[in-house]
Amino acid sequence: MSEDLRDIVRREFAEAYGAEPAGLWSSPGRANLIGEHTDYNEGFVLPFAIDRRTFAAAGLRDDRVIRVGSTFSDEVAEIAIDELAPDAVSGWAAYPLGIAWALGQRSHVDLAAVPGVDIMLESDVPVGAGLSSSAAIEGAVGFALAELWGIEIDRVELARVGRYAENEFVGAPTGIMDQMASLLGQDDSVVFIDCRSEEAEAVPLRLAENDLTILVIDTQVEHQHANGGYRERRASCEAGAAALGVSSLRDVTVDELPRARELLDDVTFRRVRHVVTENQRVLDTVAALASGGPLAIGELLDASHRSMRDDFEISVPELDLAVETAQENGAIGARMTGGGFGGSAIALVPRGLVSRLQVAIDGAFAEHGYGQPVTFTVTPSEGARREA
Ligand code: ADP
Ligand code: MG
Repeated sequence: MSEDLRDIVRREFAEAYGAEPAGLWSSPGRANLIGEHTDYNEGFVLPFAIDRRTFAAAGLRDDRVIRVGSTFSDEVAEIAIDELAPDAVSGWAAYPLGIAWALGQRSHVDLAAVPGVDIMLESDVPVGAGLSSSAAIEGAVGFALAELWGIEIDRVELARVGRYAENEFVGAPTGIMDQMASLLGQDDSVVFIDCRSEEAEAVPLRLAENDLTILVIDTQVEHQHANGGYRERRASCEAGAAALGVSSLRDVTVDELPRARELLDDVTFRRVRHVVTENQRVLDTVAALASGGPLAIGELLDASHRSMRDDFEISVPELDLAVETAQENGAIGARMTGGGFGGSAIALVPRGLVSRLQVAIDGAFAEHGYGQPVTFTVTPSEGARREA
């Protein structure tokens, strides 16, 4: 699929701008293996880059204008570099243009001295499906601009630039996980991120040699109280940390949970217990991958789901059904993923069982009178790169 997109984006660039691009860059979407609602508690997450990518064809101009096009729109967005400001751009173009602005804001480049750029985007990362099409566009454009403008920047800082653009230019309050995964992903690996220090390293997952794959089950359910629920959980975590005398739940260990139970009301305690045990599960998953490989992490995935269902209370019946059906039909482990109140689950599955699982999940959803879910496999893949 990606081969085609490379040709398509080059052709679209030539059609829109009447020239060949100077180069082609890409960056992937991501999924999260384990570590949910731990990022804003300064804890650990374990996402991976997926085999769906956003491609950016780009080239320098001889004036001081940036133009960007995408299959999102028939119109090419155009702005003078000197006019780049958070309230000057709205809609999808804020993602790519925000990167140019953020590179200047974070002192990687003097925006008053750089030439203009033409950019064309093409992507097979599904939008709004919890696979971070936003980090993919940020990574691809960031990589392209850094090379075209001759900026020396490492991948971790490029991830920070992406987050900064998304927070300050687009106005979406996201953490660093998506950008780190998109920029630092490696084939058949997960990215172990410490959200406090923002240090990250790739950890081999070894799905290929174990004949495993990861199935995403998108329930297509989105509950109205998702935003309110998310805010409420964040507030509970902050209240729990304050009551325990720590700056964030990162500083609470599993051994300290009995004391937390005495100090906190039941609901706050269970919110805290999810975050504290989830952090430990991420560390345990990294250790289990090193010692026993991916077949050894199933129970950790299952336990993560139970914790989100019972302690954090962010699952919904459709997600529980997806997870249970996967577990009953041969998955090594399964869990809901993302913010909760809908969205997707993931299952670690022997390759040969994928179709059986898909049939079983479709059947279970039909039996319960739920709308049909969308299921597809994802392969842990390489992060942002220059393509040509
Ligand atoms: P996701 O979970 O997919 O990251 P977000 O709401 O964070 O969802 O980001 C999606 C937004 O990113 C889209 O609405 C659009 O504005 C922008 N975007 C993503 N991919 C592209 C693309 N290929 N071209 C233009 N804009 C894109
Ligand atoms: Mg996003």
